[in-house]
Amino acid sequence: MKQGSSLIVWRSITQLLLMAAFFLVPLFDILRLDVINKEFYVLGKELSLSQVYLFLVFILFILVFILAISKLLGRVFCGWLCPHNTASEFLNRLESKRFFRKRPVIKGIVIFALAFTISAAAAFGLLSYFITPSLIFYSILELDMNLTFAIFFVIFALLFMLVYKIRHQFCQNACPYGMAQSILADNKTLRVAFVEDRREDCLDCEACTRICHMNLDPRTNQLDTCVNCGDCVLACQLVLSKVKKPSLLTYSFGQNTNESKANRRKLLAGQSSFLLLLLMILGGFLVYGASVYVPYEISVKPIGGKIASLTEQGYIQAYYVEVENHSSKQLNLRMYASEVEEGVALRYPDTFQIPKNGKIDVGLTIQAPELISKGLHSFYLHLQTGDSVQSKRINFTIP
Ligand code: SF4
Ligand code: SF4
Repeated sequence: MKQGSSLIVWRSITQLLLMAAFFLVPLFDILRLDVINKEFYVLGKELSLSQVYLFLVFILFILVFILAISKLLGRVFCGWLCPHNTASEFLNRLESKRFFRKRPVIKGIVIFALAFTISAAAAFGLLSYFITPSLIFYSILELDMNLTFAIFFVIFALLFMLVYKIRHQFCQNACPYGMAQSILADNKTLRVAFVEDRREDCLDCEACTRICHMNLDPRTNQLDTCVNCGDCVLACQLVLSKVKKPSLLTYSFGQNTNESKANRRKLLAGQSSFLLLLLMILGGFLVYGASVYVPYEISVKPIGGKIASLTEQGYIQAYYVEVENHSSKQLNLRMYASEVEEGVALRYPDTFQIPKNGKIDVGLTIQAPELISKGLHSFYLHLQTGDSVQSKRINFTIP
């Protein structure tokens, strides 16, 4: 596969993957902040308010990721990942097809219908990060004039204007994210550059200029709003391959293509290495935090002092086991014990339920034979829901 066509394939794949991720992330609760139900989700786990730091770590992870990418690769997010750019490019390409150029009425209807569908889907996807997707779906389906529908409609209207009319003018003049990315880039960041040493090879065909959806002339190296899409690199390669010469436009770390390799080494050894290290630490913290998180908390409180009392049935010690449900779903819990000494009997409910965001106390009684040795004894109490188990060591003292 030629370098140019592989560039198109890779860019199309990354655009499609990001588009799919945009819709799937909230649907699978990979990252979602449900403002109506006050629920937080990170990597499929629902977090309580006390665990919301994981949500903040996730946001920090994304910010550092963007910083690192912008420092290394410039506005590559815009050209390779941004859903708005993907949709705008798709509609631009469609409009330029000869079939549509010759049939303006059909073109108008098709572009309007596509812009409408894309904007509605994008508004739904965006809102799903903050409102339960099924709630949005039924609000739209039933044309229910509630707040959810109103917010959906406003977002849809804004996106429709962007996709149907404004398209890349927004990227060039108004996108705050694009501007922030441009500021983060420095003179070693990846960019598309013109190979100055071979300027005499240029045929002035302007294929590179015509294909640029950001209205830039890549030969000038004045490419502040360039999104590193690589279309001009490919266009020039197609033209110059006919005279058996390589493209005059190329990806380069820094404007001088001869210094690209040295600049890349300097970039990786500088601030970017710190950002990449920070990214790995935050990512590790996030995966660890989400993997050990369980949606309930247990605390065990003795009733009537911490020392067992001697009764006719032997030594007795009673506890309240307090279980707090941090999730917005009812929890079905199973309780069981391990490492219980011979002769010691325990009484507790085997299974019980806790309502969403609720708290309950269940009784636990220890009965030990009169002849048990004096001093400290212990066993483990386990609470299980699904495949998550929390264990607590319970001590009791025989006087
Ligand atoms: S200058 Fe080239 S790489 Fe930059 S946006 Fe235009 S076509 Fe894409
Ligand atoms: S496509 Fe290549 S040859 Fe044609 S004008 Fe651009 S740089 Fe020159």
